[in-house]
Amino acid sequence: MLLEIVDLYVKYGNIEVLHGINLKVREGEIVTILGANGAGKSTTLLSISGLVKPSSGAIYFNKNSVHKMAAHAIVKQGIAQVPEGRRVFGTLTVQENMNLGAFVCADPARAKKTQEWIYELFPVLAERRQQLSGTLSGGEQQMLAIGRALMSQPKILLLDEPSLGLAPLLVKTIFQTLREINASGVTIVLVEQNARAALKLAHRGYVLELGNIVLEDSSEALMANPRVQAAYLGGE
Ligand code: ATP
Repeated sequence: MLLEIVDLYVKYGNIEVLHGINLKVREGEIVTILGANGAGKSTTLLSISGLVKPSSGAIYFNKNSVHKMAAHAIVKQGIAQVPEGRRVFGTLTVQENMNLGAFVCADPARAKKTQEWIYELFPVLAERRQQLSGTLSGGEQQMLAIGRALMSQPKILLLDEPSLGLAPLLVKTIFQTLREINASGVTIVLVEQNARAALKLAHRGYVLELGNIVLEDSSEALMANPRVQAAYLGGE
């Protein structure tokens, strides 16, 4: 098991938003977490990347417990997050944003190779490497946010709503690229409101409702599940 979340509780102030969730991700998998607004999906990802600290429970990555580590140390373990809303540094160029993602990489030759791979995955970023990131389109900013996360050469990539606000064709392109990234050996955890696209991409999925995991299954089984269809697939 690459990632294991065990009985995780998270509170914001006095309000508990995750009530003891358990989640496992094997190396090489794409796992999606589905759920309505406010279910706790982002909180789950933020807990894995160390930006939110659990009140109890544990998170193991490669058998090491990471839930007490600082966020920058967790990146060094091989966990990278693409935050909701992209959060690229708008006043910096594409290239400068990419450089920031490489802060954990001590080997410049390796960083350069990674960068070449990312520019192959997203040719539009290569064309625009000197452009200020704030002037990129929403889709290009999403690509940059993914590219920047990949610069840390993660073993696992956590994505929070990469399809948010993007046109359907662009969502298709980005999800296709996520498939390529996964094929190259990067494990993926994907939080999505676009359940249909997420289940098509993922091998397995979890459904989170009000801070509890209520379902866990293969993507095919989740897509065929009437409860998932009614709540997340538009009653197909
Ligand atoms: P969305 O899809 O809307 O982002 P989500 O499933 O990712 O939803 P979270 O963002 O994890 O849900 O939020 C879970 C709950 O925690 C919500 O009720 C939210 O209001 C609350 N919450 C999130 N962040 C904070 C915070 N920094 N302080 C207090 N409450 C928070």
